[in-house]
Amino acid sequence: MSDNPIEIVNLRKEYGKFTAVNDLNLTIKKNSFTGLLGPNGAGKSTTLKILTHLINATSGEAYLNGIDVTKDPKGALTNVGTVIETPEFYPYLTPKETFRYVGELIGMNREQISAETQEILEKVKMTDWQDKRLGTFSKGMRQRIALGQALLNDPNIIILDEPTSGLDPRGMAEIREVLKNLRNDSKNLTIVMSSHILPEVQDLCDRIAFINHGTLLMDDDISVFESVEGARSIIAKVDGVPTDEVIKQIDSLDYVIAASRQGNDIAITIGADVGLRSRLFKDIADLNISCYELAEENALEDNYLNLIKERT
Ligand code: ADP
Repeated sequence: MSDNPIEIVNLRKEYGKFTAVNDLNLTIKKNSFTGLLGPNGAGKSTTLKILTHLINATSGEAYLNGIDVTKDPKGALTNVGTVIETPEFYPYLTPKETFRYVGELIGMNREQISAETQEILEKVKMTDWQDKRLGTFSKGMRQRIALGQALLNDPNIIILDEPTSGLDPRGMAEIREVLKNLRNDSKNLTIVMSSHILPEVQDLCDRIAFINHGTLLMDDDISVFESVEGARSIIAKVDGVPTDEVIKQIDSLDYVIAASRQGNDIAITIGADVGLRSRLFKDIADLNISCYELAEENALEDNYLNLIKERT
């Protein structure tokens, strides 16, 4: 079994004739903070709800720490903390009492719970509020308590569904701050967070899994996406199959950042300068390559905005 904390294999969820998750395959790397990014309706929540056993998949597998949640949910979720939708807590309990209640539900003893409570209260910045009743808290504060209970029992995986959704700007900033600290301070913690907000994912995550219509479109380190910002991806359609030599020649042009074979086409990344596209066209012709089209691909942000537009 692989070392990856989460492996999603051909996961599918159908609601009648509608397919919300469409044979999704996704691997989450150990100790990464992965943003599951996509517009509303992309299938993010459905995927995370299957992962956390709130709903059943139609087919496929989803492994947490090597255990398939569709077959052994209890075993798979043993070391996993989750926040899916802001949980309802008892309004008359304090944060400390809430952690004790949740801790006991998941089988921790009182000593363990007390030992972890102070540390978690600090992590979620709720120490000053530990003896106040939750009924008086803002939504952002309740969301931080939700994050706190997800950290009980020292999980190695945290799964969060749109953790800043419905919060005011201050509440959003506070949750992001807590998540950043978690990311920076935790040695053995993999975090997966869904979001439809690109800047939020860019701010917090080191990997992006970009999904729409229940399918994975891209999955890579955020640095890979950021490095193409300001650059343009071009697909050169050429006669016949491009040879290694042709790709090498294009790659060695001084303004070409990268060139590779993509099926029968050549994927080329160039700088953002306006004149470079026509220069590329001319240089390809000079190399005696019969290119009949240079199609421009959208950068990540354009792609993302287009996808959102499609849905609204
Ligand atoms: P996201 O979290 O990316 O916004 P969801 O996973 O919530 O997307 O939803 C994906 C799609 O599945 C949406 O089109 C949604 O309307 C549909 N869907 C979600 N839950 C149900 C349900 N219980 N019954 C029917 N359709 C559903």
